Parts: sequence; C-alpha cells; structure tokens
Amino acid sequence: MLDQVSIDRLRRMDTRGFPVLSVYVNLQPGPESLRSVPARIKDLLAHIEEDSQALPRDQRLSIRADVAALSNDIGRFGPDLGHGVAVFRSNGAAIDQQLVLPGPVRERAIIDSGAYLRPLEAMIEHYPHYCVAVVGRRFASIFRFAMDELETWEEMRDEEIRKANYGGFAGYEEQRVRSRADEVASKHYRTVAGRLTELKRSEGGFDLLIVGGPEAHVEGTIGALPPDVATLVVGTFSIDPGTMTPATVLEHSRRVAAQWEGHQEKRIVAELMDTASAGGRAVLGLEEVSSVVNQRAVDTLFVQAGRAIPGSVCSGCGRVSTDGDPVCSVCGAPTRPVPDVIDRLSESVRSTGGTVRHILNPGPLSEFEVGARLRYSTLMIDAT
Ligand SMILES: [Zn+2]
Repeated sequence: MLDQVSIDRLRRMDTRGFPVLSVYVNLQPGPESLRSVPARIKDLLAHIEEDSQALPRDQRLSIRADVAALSNDIGRFGPDLGHGVAVFRSNGAAIDQQLVLPGPVRERAIIDSGAYLRPLEAMIEHYPHYCVAVVGRRFASIFRFAMDELETWEEMRDEEIRKANYGGFAGYEEQRVRSRADEVASKHYRTVAGRLTELKRSEGGFDLLIVGGPEAHVEGTIGALPPDVATLVVGTFSIDPGTMTPATVLEHSRRVAAQWEGHQEKRIVAELMDTASAGGRAVLGLEEVSSVVNQRAVDTLFVQAGRAIPGSVCSGCGRVSTDGDPVCSVCGAPTRPVPDVIDRLSESVRSTGGTVRHILNPGPLSEFEVGARLRYSTLMIDAT
C-alpha cells in the first residue's frame, strides 16, 4: 500500500547527481483505455527527450537510457496494476522503482533532480482512514478501509441468545423472550460501540466511521456510540451480514466514502470561493497564491489536481515564481528552474506550518488551479 514511509524512501534516494525520470500512468479499467496505454506512454516520453536538450551530456545520456528502457518494456504497465502506476527511473544512479497507485492519476512524465512526488502526496493527503463495521445480530466484522483497500481488522462474536423456553403461559413467555432478546441486542450494540471507541482511541486508530448491516443493527450501534465517535460516522449501508463478502463490503465502502469526500470537497471549495470573492482572507490563481506563499502568509493551500507548471526558485531568498526570470526580482540572486511550481509552493507552505489540501473533483477551483486561505490579512501587514 502507498504510505508515507514509501514516499520518504523515494525522497531520500541517492541520485548521485543524475536526473530522475518520473512517469505517472493512468490504468483506469476499460479496454479502450488499456489499448491506448503504449501510445500514451510513447507521447509522454517523446516530450521528455525534447525537454532534456539543455542538460549536460552525462545527464542527457542517462535520461535517454531511461526513455529507451521504458519504451522497450511497455508490458510493465500491465492492467493488473489497478488504477495507475508511478515509475521512478535514473539510469545513471541505478534507480528503478515502481509504485501501484490507489486511485486514478493525471498522466505526466517529469525530469527533475529527484523523484517527482506531488501526486503521491496528494493521494496520501486525500485518502482518510476509515473504519467499516458490519453489524450482525450477534457478531460484528470490523474492517479498515483506506486508499481503496479493505482489510479485516477484527471479528467480534457475542454470546448466543439462549434457546427460548416455550413451556408455561404462552403470552407471558413470548413477552419475556422478546424483552430478553431486546436486552441481548442492546448489550450487543453497546459491546460493538465500546470496541469501536477503543479502536478509535488506539494507536493508529481511524479518522472516519462507516456502519453497515440491517437497519436496526446499524441504528442500534450508532445510538450506542459516545458523541465524539458518533460524529465520525460519515455514512451507512444496508447489507445482509449472512451473505456479505469482502468484495461487497469494499464496494459499499467505496461508494459511501466517495459520496462523503465529494460532498466535503464541494463545501470547502465553496467556502474558499465565497471568502475570496468577498475580499476576505483568501486568494485564487497561481500568481496571487505564489505571492502570499512567498510572504509566508498561507494557512491552507488548495491545489486542484492538474498539469505541472514550470517555474523557478530563487537560490537566495527561496522565492517561488512563474515569471521565468534568471535572477530574482526581489533579492537579485540567480534562480533555478523547477518543473512544477505548485510542488515548491506546497513544500514552502508545509515548512511554515501550513497545510496543503488537494481537490480531486472538477469544480469552480479548476479554472484557477490553486487557491489559498491566509493566516491573516496581508493588507494589514502592508499597512503597518
Ligand atoms: Zn530572491
């Protein structure tokens, strides 16, 4: 599974001064899409050789070898790899790493001094860790769901309901049996809710909760959760615990999570747009956003998944810019070209204690590509 550890390992790879070729390929299901994979990879690689003309000879040769190796081994981008794949290659540094991706990815091939990791970070930040509980009458199956993968966490089994004794006065006995069953059921809900609460508070717990099963069990379990855990329930689904399989639970989990995440995204983007249009502490567009990031004024950077935009970073003051000037317009030090300014802006925001939020679904931020929520009003700072 894609995780922070594997991203950090890629970041720390010793490139021995050689450039790294990073290639992201989408492998969304569908025969049309898979048939076009070889042609798409060829297109991505063709532009890489053009882009590397200005590099020193040994670096250019390393890239040429990477391109040749990938072109001759298209079979490695097989349909068994799921939604997408990322390849990091540097012939000169003997690097060849491949990662399977948990979701669709915008295709690109990038040459940089290190592995190009923004799409991976976007995925990690995007995917919350869910707990999925399927509650049956006397048992509960608890799963973890993250990055499109479902795994069993634990199975809970309660005491059997004692065989009813139908002797004696029928009406009285029936009522007694029923209230005993109710009592057993609510004890079961409390037990499951208690365990979910423990898991939430345990090391590496979960962010959000999805509950499935017959309606009465779902409601009973949610009703027994303490308020702080009940607020983490983002959706429920109806399923027959007797016939469920990991595949059907995965399908329901995917649907509930995608619905909730889409809704959340819409809400935070709408808030950002409202604040910006009202002249509040938010800005939109690459130029404006670069300016406030350089002022270290950003609390949250919003990035709409999209193309890589080349730019430069000042070797003196660290200013990130898209103007393409070989010298910094603020401090006069030489600048260094970077293949993706948003990558550098994200790094800068994180290093000053801000957060980066990736927006995956098309919406009003698409045309601006980036937006930022500010810590304070930059106008106030200018005025003092
Ligand atoms: Zn500078």
